[in-house]
Amino acid sequence: MPAHILVAGGGIGGLATALALSRQGHRADVFEQAEAFGEIGAGVQLGPNATRRLQQLDLGTELAAIAARPDALVVRSADSGAELARMPLADAMQQRYGAPYFCVHRADLHGLLLAAVRARGNGTLVTAARIHQVETSDDLVCLSSTDARAWEGEAIVGADGLWSLVRRQLDTPSATEPPRVTGHTAWRAMVAQASLPAALRRQQVDVWLGPRLHAVAYPVRRGECLNVVVIAESAPAGDARDWDQGSSIAALKQAMGRSCAGLQALLDAMPDWRAWSLGDRAPITCAADMAHERVALVGDAAHPMVPYLAQGAGMAIEDAVALAEALGGGNASAVPAAFARYAEARWARNAQVQARARRNGEIFHATGPVRWGRDVAMRLLGRRLLDQPWLYGG
Ligand SMILES: Cc1cc2nc3c(=O)[nH]c(=O)nc-3n(C[C@H](O)[C@H](O)[C@H](O)COP(=O)(O)OP(=O)(O)OC[C@H]3O[C@@H](n4cnc5c(N)ncnc54)[C@H](O)[C@@H]3O)c2cc1C
Repeated sequence: MPAHILVAGGGIGGLATALALSRQGHRADVFEQAEAFGEIGAGVQLGPNATRRLQQLDLGTELAAIAARPDALVVRSADSGAELARMPLADAMQQRYGAPYFCVHRADLHGLLLAAVRARGNGTLVTAARIHQVETSDDLVCLSSTDARAWEGEAIVGADGLWSLVRRQLDTPSATEPPRVTGHTAWRAMVAQASLPAALRRQQVDVWLGPRLHAVAYPVRRGECLNVVVIAESAPAGDARDWDQGSSIAALKQAMGRSCAGLQALLDAMPDWRAWSLGDRAPITCAADMAHERVALVGDAAHPMVPYLAQGAGMAIEDAVALAEALGGGNASAVPAAFARYAEARWARNAQVQARARRNGEIFHATGPVRWGRDVAMRLLGRRLLDQPWLYGG
């Protein structure tokens, strides 16, 4: 008998988990608090480690059809606009790691996962279900929602993001601690490239590094749209839990200060700036940070990170595939041992990625002599500094 698994949270991590589990024959019901399944209008970079997993889930063709395949990653000074380093991406990544480096619109990736879960039909997808209670016994688990509905299953996967409620079920001292609000704010905007002056359109990932800030621009949706994100060390724009706060170019400029003409022109050309406050947790320290008995966590619920390595969604996708592999075709009685194997296999890599993301933030946003040293190292080592074989090859 396949297992019956309840997945709390229908973001990229939750849907990837439901898909991976259903491919092993299990029933995976997904419970999402929002009125409808969806994602915000922002981009996400997917390294070869993530695209390889999506290929394993048989989504390679569909993914290639919605993605942009950027030519290169180019790092510049935000003050002068001077190029500091460059790494070829398109053919180079495919050849080196056997899978592509893609940039996608979140809604496109989410829609693709949702369609694949629906097509398998191996579970129900429940919206407007805000989970507020989790109960477990030796054999069963139960989720209940704020509107007094309840569901029973044989295991729970917490894919409920940064402010995860399911993580309270873990047997660790930090299980009930809230995440850290970093004080860094991300501003984002998206536009159709056709509506931009030709000089501002791009088919590569551009990164500008400045004191206490950085900006990233990359194509999504087959290159038809451009996604721009600026992250500055400034007070959170509003409610730390709101991923989609209205903002403005004026608020962004106030937080950023002066930057080079090329970056300013791009920022001025972008409509409808949105903002969100960034949170994370310290790197996890053991397998118990990811699973306990019949409860396992995936993605940001387990190991939220600052986005300075562009790998949070990538790790959620890696988790999903690993969780389903650990359970294999095992039945309900196999769940606790399978979840323990999953956590053992995943925790150290997730911890490493969390730590590197924090360190990248310090390097990206450096000031004074550290900044000078960073720029010299970037100019000298370029691609060797930007490539991450331990990450992309994993
Ligand atoms: C500015 C920025 C840029 C980023 N760029 C990248 C990038 O380029 N590449 C990359 O790989 N990652 C990137 N990330 C990280 C990535 O967005 C996250 O790591 C990823 O979205 C985590 O997915 P998740 O499914 O674990 O969590 P979430 O996306 O947070 O999904 C959680 C889901 O659970 C639901 N939920 C929450 N609580 C409950 C509840 N109680 N009951 C029911 N449902 C609930 C939520 O509504 C949501 O749908 C970036 C993040 C930021 C902030």
